[in-house]
Amino acid sequence: GKRAFIAGIADDNGYGWAIAKSLAAAGAEILVGTWVPALNIFETSLRRGKFDQSRVLPDGSLMEIKKVYPLDAVFDSPEDVPEDVKANKRYAGSSNWTVQEAAECVKKDFGTIDILVHSLANGPEQTSSGDIKKRLPRCYFCFELLFCFPSQAFPANYESRHVTKLHMCASISLTYIASERIIPGYGGGMSSAKAALESDTRVLAFEAGRKQNIRVNTISAGPLGSRAAKAIGF
Ligand code: NAD
Repeated sequence: GKRAFIAGIADDNGYGWAIAKSLAAAGAEILVGTWVPALNIFETSLRRGKFDQSRVLPDGSLMEIKKVYPLDAVFDSPEDVPEDVKANKRYAGSSNWTVQEAAECVKKDFGTIDILVHSLANGPEQTSSGDIKKRLPRCYFCFELLFCFPSQAFPANYESRHVTKLHMCASISLTYIASERIIPGYGGGMSSAKAALESDTRVLAFEAGRKQNIRVNTISAGPLGSRAAKAIGF
């Protein structure tokens, strides 16, 4: 079977969860990357059976999550983490949650993955602190790149950095039609972030596709009342 890493699951309402279920139903092994501040409640809920109903697969069995990794996709590596975040008690209890460290952990645990799913969006804190513009677009592009893409893929300035390469065959992310049309209310830099994501997807599909035979796609999903959607008042 295939092994999938889905980044961006912290409850059972979002696209990441639904994609994980589809992959599990198709026989894939499921690894999850969960935003550090949401990790505790997600793991506790999982353990206490709060998601059991939504874990049911078409054959009646329950989706198994093989391992949950703490992740903050805003930070590439430990050098990028500011002191206040390091000291924050929601972060201090976990380790190895920068993108590179998470990739290294997955590599150590499992060697390779076949499928990377990028289902990252804004966290509620980022919205309320007005940071959304600064932080979101960065997540989209750099995450896949650092996590999996071969250093030849793109862009040149990342090559000088230490990068763990997990072997991978395919990646998908989630985009939205507001990248190309005005969707009232889809604000806060999200529409431009999605336009960038689609552009990055084309570039990476070309570069990584030609050089490494990696498929890179983004799915333009319909509106869904997820936590992320509610956080931007959408
Ligand atoms: P969601 O809240 O279920 O998923 C977003 C996840 O990203 C959350 O689990 C959150 O904790 C996590 N996250 C936020 N910041 C992070 C960080 N720095 N590091 C690691 N994880 C972080 O919401 P969703 O709507 O399912 O979003 C998934 C994807 O689908 C997003 O890219 C979103 O833009 C896209 N999308 C959503 C809609 C919609 O209407 N909900 C429509 C089209 C596309």
